Amino acid sequence: MSIRKYDAVVIGSGMGGLTAASLLAKKGLKIVLIEKEKQVGGYVVSFKRDGFTPLESPSIYARDGGNRKHQLLFEDRVKTLPFQTGFTFDATGAFVGGCQVGGEFYQILEELGVHKEIEFIPVQHIQNIYPGFEVPLRKGGFHSYMDALLALFPEEEKGLKAYLSLVKQIGEEVRSYSEITWVKKVLFPYTFRHLIRFHKSSHQSILDNLFKGGEIKMALHTLPATEPPSRLSFLFVATVINKALIEGVFYPKGGMGRISETIAKSFEQAGGEIHLQIEGEKIFLRDGKVEGVLTNDGRLFQSSLVVSDINPNHLVKMLPLEFQEPLLKKMKHFEYSLSCFILYMATDLDLKKMELPYFTYLRFLSNLEEEDRILRGGKIPNHPTLIVSIPTLLDSSLAPLGQHLIKVLVYVPYDYREAWGKGDPEKYRQMKEEFSRKILQQLETKLIPDLRNHLLFYEAATPLTLERYTENERGAMYGLASTPGQVGNSRPPQQTSIPGLYQVGHYTRPSHGIVGTSLSGRFAARAILQKR
Ligand SMILES: Cc1cc2nc3c(=O)[nH]c(=O)nc-3n(C[C@H](O)[C@H](O)[C@H](O)COP(=O)(O)OP(=O)(O)OC[C@H]3O[C@@H](n4cnc5c(N)ncnc54)[C@H](O)[C@@H]3O)c2cc1C
Repeated sequence: MSIRKYDAVVIGSGMGGLTAASLLAKKGLKIVLIEKEKQVGGYVVSFKRDGFTPLESPSIYARDGGNRKHQLLFEDRVKTLPFQTGFTFDATGAFVGGCQVGGEFYQILEELGVHKEIEFIPVQHIQNIYPGFEVPLRKGGFHSYMDALLALFPEEEKGLKAYLSLVKQIGEEVRSYSEITWVKKVLFPYTFRHLIRFHKSSHQSILDNLFKGGEIKMALHTLPATEPPSRLSFLFVATVINKALIEGVFYPKGGMGRISETIAKSFEQAGGEIHLQIEGEKIFLRDGKVEGVLTNDGRLFQSSLVVSDINPNHLVKMLPLEFQEPLLKKMKHFEYSLSCFILYMATDLDLKKMELPYFTYLRFLSNLEEEDRILRGGKIPNHPTLIVSIPTLLDSSLAPLGQHLIKVLVYVPYDYREAWGKGDPEKYRQMKEEFSRKILQQLETKLIPDLRNHLLFYEAATPLTLERYTENERGAMYGLASTPGQVGNSRPPQQTSIPGLYQVGHYTRPSHGIVGTSLSGRFAARAILQKR
């Protein structure tokens, strides 16, 4: 057995793991990062397709007189692709916050010395389409959004002003909390009045209190979370509005994968070691303290510090049996976010000329709670909500000239028709095909007419794909759900009850998302460095 010694072993290279590893390496610690996939980044990766090498595409391929031909399975539509295509798709995300100078994410990149290596393009054109009305979000961010809502719902002015004021005060307190001093700690009940008051509040309780109409409530609940108003924490909502809507969101030139590639490069430059395609299998403890990690290829990485960026249910199983029970007990009540279906497409339609926004939220059902009940019951509504992004409108280098990439994300249950075909590959393929077709129909009706006749490529991912690539719990998009009992300090901390074992990522504090998990990595790195 090969044995190597390190200051810390990091398991999993999602944003949390990558950030922790790089910050520690930058401070001169000898760090090894273990990742089970072929590339680092977890959910934050890009993948390339040339129209001929799909991993699990529903498409079929044929040769035609020596020319490679891409044939799509939509029976009514067969399109031949020239072979010099090359698409760079984002596996999951659409944007990242805090990238402005001094912003939360900018500061982390600056600490790593890579803030100048990624060009962040501000996202300025977003369209939210609901049954019967639309809310555009253009330059001017939050204020233009609020003005648009006010113009649509003048009778809700009083409520809207009260809502905005609450959101801003919570934003201030969250900011102040991140720089907490002992004076503020002593004065906690006064300094953090709103954080205490709304600690248990759902978004619904606030919406019902301040607004009369259902439409404005639906518009205000257009957020990066899978929970309906009754289950989403208002503190989470206020934090997201402050950070994303008020400060703005960005798209990294070159695709989302550029973020993880850049951090990984800085890690290696600081002397960090990355081992790909190996899995952490066991964590050894001696006298209850961390001693090292055994990987599935039989290597032992010795260290008194382990940082885990993986699903906590899997982490627990890596520990000796006697340590599993108390941790499992704590985790029994965790609620997880939903998973999703993702359709990746390429088209030769001139989407720029059509003046489409980079990001469109396309909602067909008015009742958010009903949609959630359907999803949690293992079913998909007849007209599910579509979340559409067109990255080539911001960065044309992601596809050949004149072509565009479209990504459609739909919240779906993991158990859909008993986990997508009960392990039968043909059924699975058919279900993906059926669902892709449905999405295309909805997209054509509401956003991009004639898309099917201009499709160059498509490929789909299901919750099973997300689970397979990242081991997230039932393909959970955002780790723990942001329910009132699972936000901020109510999420598991970085330091676990086992000396030397730290946790980062979207099952921990402070929250999910690229910035949230990157901050979790920074919290862990700081806690480790403070103890040295
Ligand atoms: C479809 C989708 C869209 C999203 N959109 C956005 C967005 O627009 N903006 C945003 O900010 N956030 C978005 N998010 C959320 C965000 O991507 C995640 O919250 C965040 O990236 C999770 O990071 P993490 O550190 O928890 O690690 P993960 O990304 O979960 O990565 C964990 C890593 O650990 C590895 N691993 C697991 N087990 C082992 C093992 N035993 N040994 C070795 N390696 C292991 C996995 O292979 C993986 O690489 C989106 C998520 C999804 C799914």
